[in-house]
Amino acid sequence: MDFALTEEQQMLKTNVRSFLEKEIAPVVDEHEKQGALTREATVSFIQQLMPFGYLVGFLPEQYGGSVLEAKTNGVLLEELARTWAGLAGTVFIAAGFWWLVDVAGNPEQKEQLLPRAASGDYIGCIAITEPNAGSDVAGVELTATLDGDNYILNGTKTWISNGSIADAAFVLTTTDKTQGPLAMSFLLVERDVSPFSTRELHKLGLRSFPTSELSFDDCRVPKANALDPGTGYQRTMGFFDVSRAMVGIFSTGIAQAAIDASIKYAQDRTQFGRPIGSFQMIQEMLVDMIMETEAGRLLSYRALDLLDKDEKCRWQSCLAKAYATEAAVRTTSKAIQIHGAMGLSDEYPVERYFRDARTLTIPDGTTQIQKLIVGKNALGISALV
Ligand SMILES: Cc1cc2nc3c(=O)[nH]c(=O)nc-3n(C[C@H](O)[C@H](O)[C@H](O)COP(=O)(O)OP(=O)(O)OC[C@H]3O[C@@H](n4cnc5c(N)ncnc54)[C@H](O)[C@@H]3O)c2cc1C
Repeated sequence: MDFALTEEQQMLKTNVRSFLEKEIAPVVDEHEKQGALTREATVSFIQQLMPFGYLVGFLPEQYGGSVLEAKTNGVLLEELARTWAGLAGTVFIAAGFWWLVDVAGNPEQKEQLLPRAASGDYIGCIAITEPNAGSDVAGVELTATLDGDNYILNGTKTWISNGSIADAAFVLTTTDKTQGPLAMSFLLVERDVSPFSTRELHKLGLRSFPTSELSFDDCRVPKANALDPGTGYQRTMGFFDVSRAMVGIFSTGIAQAAIDASIKYAQDRTQFGRPIGSFQMIQEMLVDMIMETEAGRLLSYRALDLLDKDEKCRWQSCLAKAYATEAAVRTTSKAIQIHGAMGLSDEYPVERYFRDARTLTIPDGTTQIQKLIVGKNALGISALV
C-alpha cells in the first residue's frame, strides 16, 4: 500500500499552501468574527480558488472541470482546512453538489446544470437532515406530492450547509413515508423558480460556514427536477462514501494547523529559562498530536485511494471519518494545553481550531453511526434498526 503523494500532487500542495498563506490567511479572523459568509464573499473566494481545481475538481473537462483524482481533491481540501476550515466547509459542500449532478443526473439535467459550475457563481447545497430525521436518514418526512407536472414540497430541512447562500438545493424527499427508503428521491430545487425560506443556525465552530434551516411550504418543483426517482436513499449513502473520507481529510487539515502552531509556540515560549519545547511532557503531547494526525491522514487517503480505484470503500470511509475527526478534537485540545492561557484566547488561532474540529464529529453521520457501520461490516450483525 502506497499512499505517497505523486510529484504533481506534492507540487500542487506546495503552490496552494503558498497562495493560501499569502492571500487568504490574513483575512480569516476578520471573517470568522462576522459569522456566516455572505453569498457575495463566498463567490469571490471560490473564484480565487478555482484555478487550483477547487469546486470543479470532480467534474469532467467539458464542464470546465479538472477530473482530479479523489486523492488530489483531498490534498486541496486538507490545505484549505489548514488555513481556513470555515471556507473549506463551504467549498467542500458546493463541490459535492456538482459531484451529485454529475453522478446522478440524467443527460438533460447535466446539460442544463453543469455548464454553470465553471463560473463559480452558482452555489449548491445538499439537504438530507430534518428535525425528526438526523442519524436515521430513512425517517425523512419532507413530502413531495405529485400534482400534474410539478411536485409540491412540504416540510423542513435543518443544519444544511450553505443553505442560506444556496442558489439551489438537492432535497431528499419522500412520496410515501410508510415506504421508507423505497419512496425517497432527490429533487433539485432552484430557488428562483421554487422559492423556499431559510434561517441561519449559529454553532460552536466553523462559524463562517453557513448552516441553515430550510422551510418548504407548498413549494412547487417541476417533475423533471427529480434526480433518478426512487434512488434518494442509495444516492445519500453513495454521497456519504465520498464525503466521509473527505471529512477525514478536512479534520486532518485542522489538526495539522494545530500542530504547526504548537511547534512554533513551543520553540518561542520560554519558562524556567528554557523554551517549553525542551520539556519532555510538551514533546510527548506534540508527538501524540503528530502520531494521531498521521494515522487519520493515512486512513483518509486509503479510503480516497479506494475511490480512485472504483472500489467499495464504505467501512473504510467510516473508519477514516470516525478516527480522524475524533483525533483532531484530541489534537486541537492538546494544542490549547501547549499554549497555556494564550490557547484559550482569540489572539491565537488554536481555540478556533478546537471549535472547528469539535464541530466535525457530528455531520455526515456522527462518530457513533460510523462505528455501527464498521461494526456491522466486521460482525455481519447490524446494531442499527
Ligand atoms: C456543521 C454541520 C454541517 C451539516 N451539514 C449538513 C448538510 O449539508 N446536509 C444535511 O442534510 N445535514 C447536515 N448536517 C446535519 C448532520 O448530518 C446531522 O446533525 C447528523 O447526521 C446527526 O443528526 P442529529 O444532529 O439529528 O443527531 P441525532 O441523530 O439526534 O443523534 C443524537 C445522538 O444520538 C446518537 N445516536 C443516534 N442514533 C444512534 C444509534 N442507533 N446508536 C447509537 N447512537 C445513536 C448520535 O450518535 C448522537 O450522539 C450538518 C451538521 C453539522 C453540525
